[in-house]
Amino acid sequence: SPVRQVDVDALLEDVVGDHPGRRARAVGRLISLVDDEHPALREVMAALVPVTARRAQGATVVGLTGPPGVGKSTTTAALIAAFREKGSTVGVLAVDPSSPFSGGALLGDRIRMEDHATDPGVFIRSMASRGHLGGLSAATPQALRVLDAAGFDVVLIETVGVGQSEVEVAGLADTTTVLLAPGMGDGIQAAKAGILEIGDVFVVNKADRDGAQATARDLRHMITLGERRQAGDWRPPVVLASAHSGKGVDEFVEALAKHDGWLRSTGQLEVRRKRRASAEIEALALNRLKARLEARRGPGEDDLEGLAGRVVAGGLDPYGAADRLVDSLLEA
Ligand code: GDP
Repeated sequence: SPVRQVDVDALLEDVVGDHPGRRARAVGRLISLVDDEHPALREVMAALVPVTARRAQGATVVGLTGPPGVGKSTTTAALIAAFREKGSTVGVLAVDPSSPFSGGALLGDRIRMEDHATDPGVFIRSMASRGHLGGLSAATPQALRVLDAAGFDVVLIETVGVGQSEVEVAGLADTTTVLLAPGMGDGIQAAKAGILEIGDVFVVNKADRDGAQATARDLRHMITLGERRQAGDWRPPVVLASAHSGKGVDEFVEALAKHDGWLRSTGQLEVRRKRRASAEIEALALNRLKARLEARRGPGEDDLEGLAGRVVAGGLDPYGAADRLVDSLLEA
């Protein structure tokens, strides 16, 4: 598709400006640039980095992950309401791995969140996870940066915790929360899915259903088993909630605030933000190398096809071929 012309200067002005309508539109357009990996992104990020660095607190970034149907969207809506009640503005990035474009299942979730559709203190956006060269490891920090620059107090990243990459995206947050529900995501399943290690706060949602206490007990047991804790380390709480009725949501928000306090008092916040920037840099660097590799698939002496021919003919071993390819990519 042709590269859209964008007035980057106007968008940058609006995103940090005082006009709520223009700001919301600029946030949406800038995140579209992220989604499209638009060539103007480099300029946009260069302009936003000093803005976010100047913010005293910066956006508090909360990741929400868990299996489909566990109640992530319902919980997100409940969290939005709770944060708005406290006067905090909230941005939401919903990451849908099942769809090449924003839409699909998330459309329904969006409609459920329509309560907030006219509130300028709330911004909700779905992001596609396919189509990004570097997956979401670069796109998520970039979209977060846009919301941070726009002054949002809290940003929620909602992902379907089924694939490893979605779990990793949730792990780019300051606080990662893992949602489970009775009967569908017991502790063993959570351990298998690799989400026990990334959870800072666990929520057993649908606590109105049978078996919630048992799931919570299971989970606490699994967390303790997997622990190699030292004094002062964070101990992930397990909160029982019912996002439907709002029960337990206050406890959830309290647990998030506690973890935020722990992050700040221990210097872990800085560590996590560096981890996020590292993931972004790594993804961008790998993207560049991948793009170079794509341009080097041909039959030339140091190109992929040419090297493959020599390996097949027995003149070169595959390690030697990989060395030559990498060396020539880095020289380029
Ligand atoms: P997601 O796929 O994780 O985003 O889950 P949804 O938020 O779409 O919720 C899946 C289903 O569970 C919906 O039908 C919700 O109405 C329902 N649900 C969400 N929270 C609760 C809850 O606390 N209790 C019960 N009983 N159902 C819930």
